Amino acid sequence: MANKQFDVVVIGGGPGGYVAAIRAAQLGFATACIESEAYADPKGEVRLGGTCLNVGCIPSKALLRSSELFDDANHAFVMHGITAESVKMDVATMIRRKDNIVTQLTSGIRGLFKKNKVTLLTGHGSFVGRDNDLWQVQVAGQDGSGEVVSARHVIVATGSSPRHLDGIPVDNKVICDNVGALSLDAVPKRLGVIGAGVIGLELGSVWKRLGADVTILEALPDFLAAADPAVAKEAWKTFTRKQGLKINLGVKINSVKRGKKAVTIEYDMGDASYTLECDCLVVSVGRVPNTAGLGGDNVGLKLDERGRVEVNDHCQTNLENVWAVGDVIRGPMLAHKGMEEGVMVAELIAGQAGHVNYDTIPWVIYTHPEIAWVGKTETQLKNEGVDYRVGQIPFLANGRALGQGDTSGFVRVLACAKTDAVLGVHVIGASASELIAEAVVAMEFGASSEDIARICHAHPTLSETMHEAALAVDKRSLHF
Ligand SMILES: Cc1cc2nc3c(=O)[nH]c(=O)nc-3n(C[C@H](O)[C@H](O)[C@H](O)COP(=O)(O)OP(=O)(O)OC[C@H]3O[C@@H](n4cnc5c(N)ncnc54)[C@H](O)[C@@H]3O)c2cc1C
Repeated sequence: MANKQFDVVVIGGGPGGYVAAIRAAQLGFATACIESEAYADPKGEVRLGGTCLNVGCIPSKALLRSSELFDDANHAFVMHGITAESVKMDVATMIRRKDNIVTQLTSGIRGLFKKNKVTLLTGHGSFVGRDNDLWQVQVAGQDGSGEVVSARHVIVATGSSPRHLDGIPVDNKVICDNVGALSLDAVPKRLGVIGAGVIGLELGSVWKRLGADVTILEALPDFLAAADPAVAKEAWKTFTRKQGLKINLGVKINSVKRGKKAVTIEYDMGDASYTLECDCLVVSVGRVPNTAGLGGDNVGLKLDERGRVEVNDHCQTNLENVWAVGDVIRGPMLAHKGMEEGVMVAELIAGQAGHVNYDTIPWVIYTHPEIAWVGKTETQLKNEGVDYRVGQIPFLANGRALGQGDTSGFVRVLACAKTDAVLGVHVIGASASELIAEAVVAMEFGASSEDIARICHAHPTLSETMHEAALAVDKRSLHF
């Protein structure tokens, strides 16, 4: 029999899990969150926040910012009349700053647990069985400690781990996944990256800006296939021609060999074979759901064809009162998507009308220029046979962008030709990650492009480009 009994037990303390736990506690449930010892602080205490805070969203953005400043000092200052000679990068300081941010935020989640009275249970969580209507969950510590707790509701939020490739052993020193690539102790002269997805592009950008010669090898024939084709085309042009990232598409990796001094990758592209030598290799070929060791078999938890926990639109699994959220289930592997699901599930448990609108989840790639979108791409609209109109305005026509010296990219609004409803908004440019919020709000409220066009946007701001793009849908832009 279990010693401790809770209303809700959450397995996993990443963005999906910790948010679900906080919201459940706010709603008055006795709530516990189980977090394994995958991440620990310098004192050896378990760190909350999962992939996102420890080795994902936050540390990558910290490094992107540091590398952007370094790049600006080398390339952008000059146009402002600022001379910066002998600009140097102290990688150790950059990594320390990133680590401090991680520490600050992960310990912040501990504080939020205390404030909201969420019990933190440290150890690996797994299903043991069910006793009447109480699920039995084991919590096994690395030190051999263990206990079984029980709960009426269990929320699985075990997240995902980097996918590794057969025959390519990751040591996170020379051959890295995201964990090692966020903690390199020096700028590699030659960096190879397998995978031109979001993570490969962001991490490749960091080390490229710091001086690495970066080559990205991508299996797919198309670049950024999930993005709007106009955005993908613009990004390709900027990354490869202006920034010098070497991106090879349609690549088939034949072998990866680690020598004493270099990693050698042999690959085919088209009809030819190539060899790439690099000092460090980052493998970023997607992520796999964490379901191993979860004890799903003990209780009959159903997985889908891709090994994710199978859920319905409300994140209910096939088991009564067992829910799953975040990277471990279907849908985009994005922290904010997992957080919204966590809130929805807690509210559904409380009998409220929890809801996630999967059609308005924003996507962001934090390269430079940034890429962000919400809703449908032009490819999707064409495939669905939807009649649409397009309004596109370049940042080159925006006074604030010119003042900031950063005019790359554009805003592109796709609206229904019949109703004018906004169907998708695609931004490539500085601060795209912030600008997209307006489009998300507009789409959540079922706005038309005319609605955005009639809203007063502050001048001079980058958001005026959103305004102009909405006006351009009706061919009445004012400043372009
Ligand atoms: C380099 C990188 C950059 C990223 N950048 C972004 C970004 O900018 N924006 C964005 O939205 N997303 C980004 N992501 C994705 C984002 O990190 C994930 O979508 C998000 O962390 C998923 O949250 P989650 O709670 O589902 O899982 P996770 O964050 O993976 O957390 C799961 C937690 O569960 C724990 N756990 C697993 N199994 C057990 C068990 N059996 N018992 C106890 N604990 C367990 C793990 O230790 C982990 O702490 C990035 C990812 C990477 C790798």
